Amino acid sequence: MDIYTSLKNIVGEDNVSNNPEELFIYSRDPGAQHPRRVDYVVMPETTGEVQKVVMLANEKKIPITPLGGGFTLSALVVPNRGGIVLDMKKMDKIIEVNETNRYALIEAGVSQAALQAYLKKHHPHLQHSTPEAPPTVTVVGNALIQGHGHISPRYGVNSDMVNGMEVVLPTGEICTTGSASVSPYWFTRGPLPDLAGLFIGWFGTTGVVTKLSMKLYPKPAYREVLAFQTDDIDSIADAIVDVTQLDLLEDYFLIMQEKPDWMNHMFHIIIVSGHSEEELEFKKSAFKGLFNKFKGGDKVKFVDDLHPALEKRFLDVPPLAALAADFRKGGGFEYTGAILPIDKVPEAWRKGIDISRKYGMVCSYVHQVLTCHSVMFGFNYSFNRADEQDIEITRKALEESNRLTLELGGMIWKGEVAAQKLTMEKMDPNTAQLIQKVKKLLDPNGIMNPGNWEA
Ligand SMILES: Cc1cc2nc3c(=O)[nH]c(=O)nc-3n(C[C@H](O)[C@H](O)[C@H](O)COP(=O)(O)OP(=O)(O)OC[C@H]3O[C@@H](n4cnc5c(N)ncnc54)[C@H](O)[C@@H]3O)c2cc1C
Repeated sequence: MDIYTSLKNIVGEDNVSNNPEELFIYSRDPGAQHPRRVDYVVMPETTGEVQKVVMLANEKKIPITPLGGGFTLSALVVPNRGGIVLDMKKMDKIIEVNETNRYALIEAGVSQAALQAYLKKHHPHLQHSTPEAPPTVTVVGNALIQGHGHISPRYGVNSDMVNGMEVVLPTGEICTTGSASVSPYWFTRGPLPDLAGLFIGWFGTTGVVTKLSMKLYPKPAYREVLAFQTDDIDSIADAIVDVTQLDLLEDYFLIMQEKPDWMNHMFHIIIVSGHSEEELEFKKSAFKGLFNKFKGGDKVKFVDDLHPALEKRFLDVPPLAALAADFRKGGGFEYTGAILPIDKVPEAWRKGIDISRKYGMVCSYVHQVLTCHSVMFGFNYSFNRADEQDIEITRKALEESNRLTLELGGMIWKGEVAAQKLTMEKMDPNTAQLIQKVKKLLDPNGIMNPGNWEA
């Protein structure tokens, strides 16, 4: 029997395609990477169907690439060696929200917007950590790439919030991680050997996650944006340390954009929240006191009259910080998301401006401070999707930013294949070998998203 017919027998005719018009959209993503070939797209509706598709692929040695929303921008869902794209969007059930133990158990295709809307309607005092990405992206895809949301500066990155998962292994076994492997509750990851680490950060190379339990958090009734502005780049690290030392913020961005002129400063944007007006007022006065004391004195200016457009953007959940980026004609946008140690931010800032200038781009920065330990530093580039030369320039700028990230002692977040290779080259060789061994153990036929995390 041919592969198409076998897939049709598993998921039904409506949920499989090898039609070139339908495959076109799966052969590329919105970022700057090259399009690549796809042979089949399959939309399973149950874990049982995922299992059968994976078993078929394993037997026939056909590559499988799991797809959530497809918005990493670094082509992580575009197959490197053809085969099946497993589009998870039809597995979109919110299975359980446990109010008391504060978690949501969801299927892999549940989008950020769907979970947010569901919580707003049925559990208005709970929230999940919502990334600023387009609303159609999946909660699972985001957690698996160690993404970050609007409460990450307070509670940690979104992969830290995973309690457990149901996973179809590349050889077809269905396996559960965390407390759900021994209990009816999906409420905690340990105390057990932490098997979540076999699937988080692997870009779909170790299995297909079909369900995931995500921690929920109390949702405050009041939020407000505070901002201060400075041109003193050398003060950034000290300012981040002082601001986070207060331990009172919900979200924290650094932004700068060369145009329009009023944005050509470094803005620290701090979002504070409270369950009562008194709590909010207390936090605001603590921050205002801190701003007045900052080193550098008159180099730092508290912004009383933040532009209303900017204020609204940051008050939204998720905040629309990336809109600070300079979007050019043609709508292309990609960034090196560098997870940097806080003390390297000033150097990254200066060298990032140099890279933008070198490639003729307007510099626009959006960085999010992640807890009090690191910064997601976005080297942003926009390009014209209709202009191949412009896209090539963007790839070069990305490569330079990736190299800079590693030189600074940082980590490239959700890197494209070329960035993964740079990381592997710099990695302790025994660690790089361990990664290959784990992949081989779980996926002996190398069917899962091949080309990623390869030495
Ligand atoms: C304007 C803009 C702003 C953004 N802002 C943020 C932000 O604030 N925070 C942030 O974290 N990200 C941000 N992003 C990046 C990205 O869009 C998000 O991280 C997004 O949540 C990724 O989820 P996805 O569903 O698109 O994942 P996908 O791109 O579909 O998948 C990501 C990876 O996970 C794998 N995968 C997906 N589903 C499964 C599964 N079920 N089983 C196994 N593997 C799987 C895929 O193979 C791929 O390797 C932004 C992007 C844009 C365009």
